[in-house]
Amino acid sequence: MVRICVYINHENLGVPTSSFNPLASPSPLRPSMKVLAILYKGGDAAMAERRLLGTVENQLGLRQYLESLGHEYIVSDSKEGPNSDFQRHIIDAEVLITTPFHPGYLTADLFENAKNLKLCVTAGVGSDHIDLNSAAKKGVQVLEVSGSNVVSVAEHVIMSILLLVRNFVPAHEMIERGDWQVSEIARNAFDLEGKVVGTIGAGRIGYRVLQRLVPFDCKELLYYDYTPLPEGAAKAVNARRVENLEEFVSQCDVITINCPLHEGTRGLIDAKLLKHFKKGAYLVNTARGAICDKDDVAAAIKSGHLNGYAGDVWDVQPAPKDHVWRTVKNSLGGGNGMVPHYSGTTIDAQARYARGVRSILENYFAGDPQEPQNIIVGIKGYESKAYGQR
Ligand code: NAD
Repeated sequence: MVRICVYINHENLGVPTSSFNPLASPSPLRPSMKVLAILYKGGDAAMAERRLLGTVENQLGLRQYLESLGHEYIVSDSKEGPNSDFQRHIIDAEVLITTPFHPGYLTADLFENAKNLKLCVTAGVGSDHIDLNSAAKKGVQVLEVSGSNVVSVAEHVIMSILLLVRNFVPAHEMIERGDWQVSEIARNAFDLEGKVVGTIGAGRIGYRVLQRLVPFDCKELLYYDYTPLPEGAAKAVNARRVENLEEFVSQCDVITINCPLHEGTRGLIDAKLLKHFKKGAYLVNTARGAICDKDDVAAAIKSGHLNGYAGDVWDVQPAPKDHVWRTVKNSLGGGNGMVPHYSGTTIDAQARYARGVRSILENYFAGDPQEPQNIIVGIKGYESKAYGQR
């Protein structure tokens, strides 16, 4: 097949660069483009369950749509090293679709090779795997499907808090082993009622976590965020803002992390901050693995300073087989609620983020404005205020 591509210099057409897209109309001038998607391999599960849309097999349901417009759609899970499909195709892709669950890490170096790149779309929420500062510098837009999986994650957070506080995992393991010694479990099992729970980050997920905690009759709900909640929203969940992080952590029995990973949050939970945690506190991290120092957290669990750690995010993903968070336990053989990164990729969430990616692409091809809440980096730089105070 011979493709004739005509590129026009839009700056000469008097059309604002921010809204111009040569693919806007089905005109014969519309060039085809390369759309590259880095997704994870779903294997047999993805063949049997086609609603696993975020997989290489099911391709976010976009192949027919993109090919009907004449675009080339490359989908692969191969993302590491110079011979990976990611690094080979990023050179001439115009659109990159990635997912936080199997992140294609678009580093500053790779940005230098991505000469044709104009749009990065995150199928999900959390675009820290894209070097956002490079995107801002180069005028590459970064969009995510904001809100698509925030309920999915908030539910997972509540589950993780409960399984730690109630010492669930060792109790279930005991049953599987054929043992029965109630005291061994009950000695480290508590109620959530009457405890102080705090969230670092009170955005879409953090706030939904607070909402879901209300009926548990906690002693107090706290939050730490440089953006205060609107007064009515804070009142609705009876949450108190603590502006100093050390003071915040020192008051909490349970801390849940719900902020993005950026320069200001990388390694935020380290040995220095952990010293300010209450002895025996629990930490739940479904935000990003790199917000916590892996070894400092593991040491705190082993020493009993933390009674448990749970979550689904790792730095890097897939997590190495020997990653300490896979197996670390407190001195009573519990305190580990770690799972692979799936809290935000339930079947329900996948339907929402696949639909959201399609809608972002439709806007892009048509030259229509994007939903403001989805724009992390726009043509003129950062638009989201959630990725650090700038
Ligand atoms: P959001 O943008 O609605 O809220 C983020 C909040 O974090 C904002 O209120 C922001 O002000 C706050 N924040 C930023 N930096 C902070 C800091 N240094 N200290 C305290 N607060 C800070 O985002 P969201 O939809 O709630 O998602 C939050 C994060 O959760 C995402 O960026 C992503 O990393 C993670 N996430 C994980 C999964 C999963 O499957 N595990 C799914 C979705 C999102």
